[in-house]
Amino acid sequence: MSSSPTSNQSNPPWSRDELVLALDLYLLHRNGLPGVNHPDVQALSQSLNLIGNATGVSKNQSFRNTNGVCMKLNNFRRWDPSYTNTGRTGLAKGNKDEELVWLEFANDPVRLAEVVGAIKANVGTTAITPVDLSAEEEPGFFEAEEGKVLTRVHRVRERDKKLVKRKKDEALKTHGVLQCEACGFNFSKTYGPDVEGVIDVHHTKPLHTLQPGDRTKLADLALLCANCHRVVHSRRKWLSVIEVKDRYQAAKNTA
Ligand SMILES: [Zn+2]
Ligand SMILES: [Zn+2]
Repeated sequence: MSSSPTSNQSNPPWSRDELVLALDLYLLHRNGLPGVNHPDVQALSQSLNLIGNATGVSKNQSFRNTNGVCMKLNNFRRWDPSYTNTGRTGLAKGNKDEELVWLEFANDPVRLAEVVGAIKANVGTTAITPVDLSAEEEPGFFEAEEGKVLTRVHRVRERDKKLVKRKKDEALKTHGVLQCEACGFNFSKTYGPDVEGVIDVHHTKPLHTLQPGDRTKLADLALLCANCHRVVHSRRKWLSVIEVKDRYQAAKNTA
């Protein structure tokens, strides 16, 4: 057997994290795309391999090599008006997330730069991060627009047992009860005092601000019932606690 054990495997589709990083490079070079030997292309290939290793999807020698990076940069052209306005069409293949990532980030360079910075920081080799980025996605919890890496960091922070306990203790001390901050649901009133602690904790800091090693403050956490927490994460553009609260009130008022 002389062939490499991984030579027959094809590479997985590009994740949102990867597309966000590629879009950032595309926009930098949109007037003249770089070739495989360009240092920016090599650097992106390396960053994508860090993400691939951290999320457990990089199994192939050719994973996100410089050829693959250049092809992906080309794919963005068909969404770019500054390219298509000249009558050109760009490549007609690619995955659906390319267009979505384009629509979400291409006209918001500040947010794009912040998200790129946060993703890179959280997969950096030197960062000491206890976050398992390769964990399975949970049913019902949508991966955020910002991609899997930051979604995982968010979930790990809001499930930190010590912090969750401190948050609940603080609320009990201040309000005497644990109530959902969006709909007001009170567990002990509905089910009895012995189930008071069943409430969820949601981490409210924007994903692009998540840096490895930051300390989560109790003020960054919100208490939510399981339903409201599900609603927050029920779509790619996560809802804020205030948005869920407003929806709950609006639906109640029209009922
Ligand atoms: Zn609720
Ligand atoms: Zn949450």
